[in-house]
Amino acid sequence: MVQLDTPVQFVKGIGPQIAAMLAEKRIATVEDLLYHLPFRYEDRLHPRALTELTPGEMASVIAEVRGAVLLRTRSMPIFEMTVGQGTSTMKCIWFHGTYLDGKFKTGQMIALYGKVEPSRSSRNFKMIQPQFEILPEDEAEDETRLLEVGRITPVYESLGGSRLASRWIRRIVYYLLQQLEGHVPETLPASLLARLDMPGREEALRCVHFPVAGTPMSQLQASATPAHKRLIFEELFYLECGLELKRRKLQQRTGFAFETNEKAREAIRQILPFHPTTAQKRVLGEIVGDMRKPTPMRRLLQGDVGSGKTIVALQAMIVAIENGCQAALMAPTEILATQHYLAARKVLEKSSRRYRAVLLTGSLDEDKKKLARRRIFHGEADLVIGTHALIEEKVEFANLGIVVVDEQHRFGVLQRFKLMKKPNAAEPDVLVMTATPIPRTLALSLYGDLDLSVLDELPPGRTPIITRRVSDERAEDVWKVVREQARRGHQAYVVYPVIEGQKDDQPELDFAEPEPEETKPAKKSAAKKAAQKKAESLFEKPTLKSATEMYENLQATHLGGLRLGLLHGRLDADEKEIIMRRFQRGEIDVLISTTVIEVGVDVPNASVMVIEHAERFGLAQLHQLRGRVGRGAAKSYCILMTGGRISPAAEERLAAMVRTQDGFELAELDLQLRGPGEFFGTRQAGLPDFRVANLLRDRGLLELAKQEAARFVENPGADATDDEKRRVWARLREAWQRRYGLVEAG
Ligand code: ADP
Ligand code: MG
Repeated sequence: MVQLDTPVQFVKGIGPQIAAMLAEKRIATVEDLLYHLPFRYEDRLHPRALTELTPGEMASVIAEVRGAVLLRTRSMPIFEMTVGQGTSTMKCIWFHGTYLDGKFKTGQMIALYGKVEPSRSSRNFKMIQPQFEILPEDEAEDETRLLEVGRITPVYESLGGSRLASRWIRRIVYYLLQQLEGHVPETLPASLLARLDMPGREEALRCVHFPVAGTPMSQLQASATPAHKRLIFEELFYLECGLELKRRKLQQRTGFAFETNEKAREAIRQILPFHPTTAQKRVLGEIVGDMRKPTPMRRLLQGDVGSGKTIVALQAMIVAIENGCQAALMAPTEILATQHYLAARKVLEKSSRRYRAVLLTGSLDEDKKKLARRRIFHGEADLVIGTHALIEEKVEFANLGIVVVDEQHRFGVLQRFKLMKKPNAAEPDVLVMTATPIPRTLALSLYGDLDLSVLDELPPGRTPIITRRVSDERAEDVWKVVREQARRGHQAYVVYPVIEGQKDDQPELDFAEPEPEETKPAKKSAAKKAAQKKAESLFEKPTLKSATEMYENLQATHLGGLRLGLLHGRLDADEKEIIMRRFQRGEIDVLISTTVIEVGVDVPNASVMVIEHAERFGLAQLHQLRGRVGRGAAKSYCILMTGGRISPAAEERLAAMVRTQDGFELAELDLQLRGPGEFFGTRQAGLPDFRVANLLRDRGLLELAKQEAARFVENPGADATDDEKRRVWARLREAWQRRYGLVEAG
């Protein structure tokens, strides 16, 4: 008997070999397969007549193959097919269509889906690169023919080449739903479904895969049928239930109830090097409000690059220190940790109090580490600044009161919490800082267990950064700008994607993500893939310039006479620190670097950011890099250099950088270009990996799920029977273990 948890391997028609292919797509069980939903639908019940098409629309057409030919033009082979309905005909064109040669027979019925284009040669229309499916012949009277035509047909993203494409999935899903009829366990309480007017699970699954005639196509394409909504809601409900439980658990734990008396307030004021912005004051108020409560703080501080998060964090840490506790600041890189350490010392010197700060990073030598650990353990360090080493080096604190995690997107959620597990009387407060401008609703769901503060105001006196795209051929001009700025006493960064050579084992090598597909690869033959690979390789033709080589090169040529520094992840900590210090003190004019300087580095006197091979970087990265300049009053420049051919997606990223400096706008675009998973770095950020939900599309359902989860957790009995409650909790545990991996996190 097939059940939802049956491994796919044991399903009729799937053996070990296909199971292995499916495993690659993270499909292990029958349930996983059923939650692989169609990404679009074709109305093959009411296919369009060729005579009623309008140019520009997306249309489903069923027609007869009238003839096909492979044309070898000078630039590329083009496959051209004529299809017809009665006396009307339409042309279909596939560029590089060699792989289609011989695939079609005249008289065959074919389902096409694509954009209708006007045709120059006649009054007829044409489709360019439409998706297609050859339909089974009329005589093939078997049941599965009915899955293809005469209905609203689901189209799936392939689960493995053309073999496991739409048709295969349709059949297997159809078979499974038949087998499971009446045996799909419900996962939501009946009264909840009734109240929300949502279909049961089995019905919902049936309807998303094989919609009944009459289901509005627009609803289907938008994943907005009641069936879709029910499945999306279910997934979000379990996410939110888990977050709600975590929130409640936190409320029961003991934290420090810090006092903010006059002494503490005076201490905070003493370290302020400038007037805080209104936003900084407000946010500090929110943070301190949490710190005064007897439960541990869990707060996310979001602020665009340069918005001034650091000083706010320092102030919060001073509050804890003034209450006799230790404060820890964890940074994602050694450079940043070092910079924070140096900056903190400078700021703290102004105070009449004698704060003791300690730096702890992985590459300090053992003796120094040991000393640091001892001072932390004996409470001889008030402020501890470090990297991951704070977690990894078995650091024990005498009395840790607050942890600030800078640039959260570099840390996993789990790691964030490991620090909490240190044996301690009360749990420290946690403040997580990020420069990733996450749209608010998304932030609330992603970091649902965190309260959110937003620094939405830049410190005064910033001038907009002038951003230009420049082709490699004009490098001469770029170096002239750098020299000119240096002459005026300013400094510059020049960033490369690699440290040296063109090896791809470079730690900082963070190439722009694979280009998103124009259309989902419902069908893509191996030949087409190969053609695409080839096309892509055209984009990467030039060898990469590297930081190390260009450091030598620029020194010897265009930037001769200037003081150059080289910084990258392979230098050991001392070297990095020396270089950073010298750059900070203005003893280096031009810092040649990799993306190690991407995050957080703060040298206000720097006025130029040159990024070579800019097409190689992701949008968030470019925005972060640009954020290194424009921190002082001087006019600043960001120069994006590119050479060779650039992919359309890279083109779009660069255009966006030139167009806007607004982090939120860039983030929205980045989100669109890459999808939420890539955007946040699913694994890195601990972002749940959804099966059916899409945080951008389903914001409304997320709100609903959140409300309902809170209500359910508050009083499960109101909505559910004992049996239903038991099943909800079991499902919750399973969902969190399997999908989110966060069970231990609370
Ligand atoms: P980020 O939010 O990117 O971490 P930082 O905390 O590094 O930003 O601050 C960026 C720069 O702005 C720093 O040089 C900092 O000293 C300065 N700064 C922060 N707040 C203010 C303020 N209220 N007035 C003037 N300068 C400020
Ligand atoms: Mg910062």
